[in-house]
Amino acid sequence: MIYKRSSALFAEAEQVIPGGVNSPVRAFKAVGGTPIFVKEAKGAYLYDEDGNQLIDYIASWGPMILGHAHQPVVDAVIDKAKKGTSFGMPTQIETKIAELAVSMVPNIDKIRFVNSGTEACMSAVRLARGYTNKDKIIKFAGCYHGHSDSFLIQAGSGAVTFGSPNSPGVTQGTAKDTLLAKYNDLANVEALINANKNEIACIIIEPVAGNMGCIPPKEGFLEGLRKLCDTNNILLIFDEVMTGFRLAKGGAQELLGIKADIVCFGKVIGGGLPVGAFAARAEIMNHLAPLGPVYQAGTLSGNPLAMAAGLAMLTELNSGDIFESLAQKTAYLHKGIAKVLTELNVTHTINRVGSMISVHFCEDDVVDFETSAKGNNDTFKTFFHGMLNQGVYLAPSAFESWFLNDALTYEDLDKTIAACKAVFS
Ligand SMILES: *Cc1c(COP(=O)(O)O)cnc(C)c1O
Repeated sequence: MIYKRSSALFAEAEQVIPGGVNSPVRAFKAVGGTPIFVKEAKGAYLYDEDGNQLIDYIASWGPMILGHAHQPVVDAVIDKAKKGTSFGMPTQIETKIAELAVSMVPNIDKIRFVNSGTEACMSAVRLARGYTNKDKIIKFAGCYHGHSDSFLIQAGSGAVTFGSPNSPGVTQGTAKDTLLAKYNDLANVEALINANKNEIACIIIEPVAGNMGCIPPKEGFLEGLRKLCDTNNILLIFDEVMTGFRLAKGGAQELLGIKADIVCFGKVIGGGLPVGAFAARAEIMNHLAPLGPVYQAGTLSGNPLAMAAGLAMLTELNSGDIFESLAQKTAYLHKGIAKVLTELNVTHTINRVGSMISVHFCEDDVVDFETSAKGNNDTFKTFFHGMLNQGVYLAPSAFESWFLNDALTYEDLDKTIAACKAVFS
């Protein structure tokens, strides 16, 4: 494929935008080459500025779960835009999407909308600290919770890809309150809690990790965390920015049958517009201003266009069997790729939960950041560029989950499996 125009556009962007991108992983540093500039997208396909059509396995990193430019979402946004795009005053649509979200997700009474997943996680931790009157938090190596200071400690995907797991600009004072644990290692978490008795406000976790590839929680791991939190007066925060409204109507809480104290959302909940949210039982949420002392605010929070897109998206997700259909498609892809790689003697491990899947070029099980990092990055680069040449767009980093969207047909999946075979033949 030819990327003449993308290359020219990237060179132009580099003059005025650091690294030519507004979010680092887009720059292709982990795989080499020049990022592709998108012109438009429809359903399962991206159309780039050079006129190529690509089957998209990123779906804007998750939000486009029903495919790009999904008509009900587009219509809702256009309709709202004609009536004014921001007021900084309450609107009824905020209540409507809140009611729907609360009805879909288990164990939450109230929800507050923000503008990104980063904001959601940052605010959730502040709320947990305010609620428990404790300072420290536990996060897991390889989990990503956005780019706010407290979380840039071994943060997976983008941060790992760039070799700066601890970003300059994060102060020691902040970093010391973030304790780092090993994913899927309950004993490790217990030891941290015991070493910091009565100091830990919350444990924040991706209930199914998606920023070091897709890593499912081991049997009993989340149940164990729940128990540890209960006995030590610690709040359990599920960062469901990826998994929320993707793994099930009620996200990972529903799929895995575990209750979190605070849940963070982003990605799918905005239908492709910039939306995040955090939610909990009323007794916790009532600690937020203006009811309580924990401050949190946003000029564009609850923006009518964003709420319209989110409401249209959640309404669709609430009305069908999309999650089952997506999981079946993902299982089909899993089977097809595994068969091809096995036949061609390519060492691999594939992880999958629902419509999240990742292919790791290593032999052992991938259960945490360490084992994920063992994947062969040269093979991944070959895979990435080979697939791209055949019109399949994967995430430009080995540390990312793929996100299937329901516009993908079985024909698209077959093409993808065939492309995989061609790359390694
Ligand atoms: C993407 C992501 C975030 C950050 O969301 P942004 O909207 O990019 O700020 C937080 N947590 C998880 C699990 C994510 O995947």
